[in-house]
Amino acid sequence: MTHSATRLIEAKRDGAALSADEIGWLISAYVDGTVPDYQMSAMAMAVYFNGLDPDELAAWTSAMLNSGEVMDFSDVAAAKVDKHSTGGVGDKISIPLAPMAAACGVAVPMMSGRGLGHTGGTLDKLESIRGFTTRLAPDEFRRILVDHGLVLAGQSETMAPADRMLYALRDATATVPSIPMICASIMSKKLAEGLDGLVLDVKTGAGAFMKTVESSRELAAALIGVGESHGVSTVAFITSMEQPLGAEVGNANEIRESIDVLRGEGPADVTELTLTLGEAMLELAGVEGGRNRLEGAIGDGSALDKLIEVAVAHGGCRSVIEDTSLLPVAPLEAVVTAPRDGFVVRCDALAIGEAAGGLGAGRERKEAAVDPGVGVTLRAKLGDRVSAGDPLAVARYSDEAKWEAQRGRLAAAWKLSGAPSPVPDLVVERVGGTP
Ligand code: URA
Repeated sequence: MTHSATRLIEAKRDGAALSADEIGWLISAYVDGTVPDYQMSAMAMAVYFNGLDPDELAAWTSAMLNSGEVMDFSDVAAAKVDKHSTGGVGDKISIPLAPMAAACGVAVPMMSGRGLGHTGGTLDKLESIRGFTTRLAPDEFRRILVDHGLVLAGQSETMAPADRMLYALRDATATVPSIPMICASIMSKKLAEGLDGLVLDVKTGAGAFMKTVESSRELAAALIGVGESHGVSTVAFITSMEQPLGAEVGNANEIRESIDVLRGEGPADVTELTLTLGEAMLELAGVEGGRNRLEGAIGDGSALDKLIEVAVAHGGCRSVIEDTSLLPVAPLEAVVTAPRDGFVVRCDALAIGEAAGGLGAGRERKEAAVDPGVGVTLRAKLGDRVSAGDPLAVARYSDEAKWEAQRGRLAAAWKLSGAPSPVPDLVVERVGGTP
């Protein structure tokens, strides 16, 4: 049935709920051009202020999901489970996690994104492995999943086109931070992967979309509600993004740190979060053994072997993974030092992510290229005690002008105090499922 976009905008503006039929029409009329950007912008702002109730959210997500191709892996015998993070700084968890879960018998059809703004992207990190391609046609995506139990690629052009259009519109109209629209955006893409289970890492704190635990809980509940209503077992973890994860922020340097995790030599926080999310993936897949099994896949080398096998299937160079000194490193280096003695009471993920992005590890515009060897290595994190002159971070860069523009921002990310303050828990809580 045809509706009037103006009447639907009026209804949402005035706080009324839209029917599934109205929402389905609106999204498909936006995709086919019947509803122009200016009307959809007004609708996005009305949703930003008045929200969507659970029925509207389910209908909005389904309409976005069904705007494109939905993959069907029902012929793949193993349970298909993915992990999605709402985005953070130094968040390289997918890179060790996916091969660990696959080495334990979970089928992982992982579709990831690129870095945008202050957050990094798994695709950019993977592409710092020479030859690794993340752009796969749907039949190649399927073949790699079937042959290797794991595929690590970008979203195909044919999946959830409504989200691509709406996300760009929200970005330009200051309507991104809306819990229902973030939820529909994430879930329309994840549900298109043909999953049995989904583990969500909902970041909270300075470097996250959601700055408070309350808003993170609200997003987690909305994501779980949509996943479950589409028959996908969904679990969320609310995890801290006050400071970056691990010591490395960038692209190639995050691959190096991820490989350290797979060798059993990774930083404690990255390893712990990888194991926590991995346990949940195994649980949703009905794979026995949990944490011990994941640790076993590190100990016997099968998780690292799986990464090498899959990287080669994506065209990547195995020797770069076997010898991480072959990964790109930017030519210039500068050290940020502590101005005085003290305890680190702030190590601001947002500022560090922005500085790394500004040095070239991230991008301001979607079409820009990243510099894979650029990045920041943290030498002091929350709770650490430092003396004046000790290194807080080492920055690697290729362009002096970019370093001059970012050095002040990077130095200001640390705050030192005479007394330590409590370090936030890495995993704040689990939402959904039975632990
Ligand atoms: N990530 C998404 O995919 N969509 C949003 O709206 C926000 C974060």
